[in-house]
Amino acid sequence: MALRGTNQESGRPYNRRIVLESIRLHGPTTRGEIAERVHLTVQTVSTIVRELEDQGLILSVREEPRGRGIPPSMLTVNPEGGHALGIHLTPLGIEVALVNLRGDVVESRHRYTSNPMPDQAFALIREMVVELKSSPRCGRLLGAGLALPGPFDIESMSFVGPTTMTGWKNVDIGARLADATGLPAFMENDMAAAALGEQLYGLGQQLSDYYYLFFSVGLGGTMMTDGVVMSGAWGNAGEIGHIPAVPDGELCPCGNLGCLERYLSLDAFRRRGLSEANWVREITPIFCNAIRTIENLFDPETVVLGGLAPQSLIEQLATLADGLSNSVSARANRTHPRVVVASDCQHSALRGAAALAVFGVLSPRFGQMFETSEKGTVE
Ligand SMILES: [Zn+2]
Repeated sequence: MALRGTNQESGRPYNRRIVLESIRLHGPTTRGEIAERVHLTVQTVSTIVRELEDQGLILSVREEPRGRGIPPSMLTVNPEGGHALGIHLTPLGIEVALVNLRGDVVESRHRYTSNPMPDQAFALIREMVVELKSSPRCGRLLGAGLALPGPFDIESMSFVGPTTMTGWKNVDIGARLADATGLPAFMENDMAAAALGEQLYGLGQQLSDYYYLFFSVGLGGTMMTDGVVMSGAWGNAGEIGHIPAVPDGELCPCGNLGCLERYLSLDAFRRRGLSEANWVREITPIFCNAIRTIENLFDPETVVLGGLAPQSLIEQLATLADGLSNSVSARANRTHPRVVVASDCQHSALRGAAALAVFGVLSPRFGQMFETSEKGTVE
């Protein structure tokens, strides 16, 4: 990922975000390293670092001198320098969390409500935001990010049936969210938000090419390529829930027979009414076929399994990978298992939603979280 500053005076706010992003990605780091990375002078970087320190967004620590000379101070993002509200809306309810700059969920609120309509949902969000704002642990709030099943305003087959939200078409979600929270507002579909949370705060620090299988009320997924979401022509790449899994199988609300999501999702688990262990045994062949399909299509370093499902269920599914038969991923020189559990399943979409807000406000990739590079002008 190339971050590049601009030497034009009008580019100062842009350079601030570039420098902060570089510290976040590479910290602890020094002024000199940042300057080299983002193509700015050390003097310009030092000025910006001072501003960021004054605002409490970064911390500077000088190591004990060893031998001659003073070691340069090391810069890191200050986890408590600000908070964002991460909000996750699902057909089962709404969760709102206070998330710090390191991606830790500091405090959260939850309301169970079945398939909330927009008026009800934003009233509940407003209520929970008021509670969190009055918490003694709530610092300076930078923005609010909402993750919800998507895609939005797209005539898509994944936007139908019991696994998705109804009554949310043609709603100005951004404006409603800004109004309910009083903060700059951002949104994203929940599986992309979860993958982003994982990329920024979790396994993304070790992995760059992986498939994030989002096991929620429905089943979705996102391929991360070089740390960036592979979105496809219309933003629906990796949507695995509606691939054919069982010939002439169950009728899916999308109109086809035997879609994967009819067998492998929280919705499917609940409809089947079995214990976790029995259900996992029953869907083992379908799960393993799905994993091999993903592997052969995308050749990922690993498949990360996360989402809204209970941790115990996710963990049982992940152990099935031990018995996976051949695919392009069945290599001897693997560094990660073929399937791993997401680093913080239960919070991944929330953390990703909060990250949308933090980086929407502070980062150079304003409003476009998944851009791979930034073009600046260097004189
Ligand atoms: Zn379908």
